[in-house]
Amino acid sequence: DLSDALSSYAAATEVPEPQIKNALNIDLAQLKQALERASIQVFYQPKIDLSTMKVAGVEALARWKNTQGDWIPPSLFIPLAEEHGLIGDLTLSLLEQILQDMNTWWEQGNYIPVAMNLSAKSLAEFNLANEIIQRVIRQGIPAHFITFEITESALVVDLPSALATISRLRLKGFGISIDDYGTGFSSMQQLSRFPFSELKIDRSFVHGAPERQYLRNILKSAIDTGIRLGITTVAEGVETEAELHLLKSLGCNQAQGFLLARPLPGRELLGWIERAAQSQTPYAKHLYPD
Ligand code: C2E
Ligand code: MG
Ligand code: MG
Ligand code: MG
Repeated sequence: DLSDALSSYAAATEVPEPQIKNALNIDLAQLKQALERASIQVFYQPKIDLSTMKVAGVEALARWKNTQGDWIPPSLFIPLAEEHGLIGDLTLSLLEQILQDMNTWWEQGNYIPVAMNLSAKSLAEFNLANEIIQRVIRQGIPAHFITFEITESALVVDLPSALATISRLRLKGFGISIDDYGTGFSSMQQLSRFPFSELKIDRSFVHGAPERQYLRNILKSAIDTGIRLGITTVAEGVETEAELHLLKSLGCNQAQGFLLARPLPGRELLGWIERAAQSQTPYAKHLYPD
């Protein structure tokens, strides 16, 4: 339940104490209201191609500022939405925003690939895949510009339906990424059964890897796994130059993290990309709520 989610969140110590306390006040009514008013927004965090240092795409991240003005972390409201059968509606509402933003960027000649997170429970909803496919077709955006990120641990929730949903989306041409790779317990044999196109290495193996040999070994073996499977490797949570350098030397394809860019609102993305392209370093730090 919510208090479980909160204590594990606090244990992870990634959110300041006051924000955790405020999040205690979120309830179902507030979440429903936010859904009705479409006040849960999408922010975009750039991913950088490590061979060109150019923007390879963006990850869409749900952002909710409640009526008191507090940012509620998605790791709190996504499980709440899942628990109360609202995850399908939320996912489709976020997808609509993403497609609108992509449309705006396309009209200006920027064909930016977008990755969207799909939660464990939504994978079990057969109709969600249909709805997603229809909406994307309606917007006229080719499927290969969109990748769905699915956490490794989501696969164990309901393997057959997850496999069905993932295969349907992959067959339509969408990219499929294993998110938080390394935190689940999938074997090479299990992974090879899934039609993944990308492996996204969890930040717990990235952050601190330059200083710790065991992390560096795990990181190397994850990147090598991606290479052996013939799929794109992306490292999340890159916070230092040393981490970026290490990832390049290990042959990782893309990097994402606060060193490169914070998640930012859709209307600011094109400006950011332009500034990043002009700056002396090929990337720039920006401060946005995360
Ligand atoms: P994720 O998909 O692994 O997303 C990456 C998370 O790491 C994001 O947290 C992002 O803000 C954060 N991050 C990015 N760079 C760095 C860094 O350098 N250092 C650190 N410490 N963190 C970094 P966020 O936005 O709080 O999202 C947390 C999780 O919530 C996501 O993890 C994802 O699983 C889920 N989530 C977010 N948006 C959605 C959504 O629209 N739908 C679903 N189903 N899940 C979502
Ligand atoms: Mg993700
Ligand atoms: Mg991730
Ligand atoms: Mg993660």
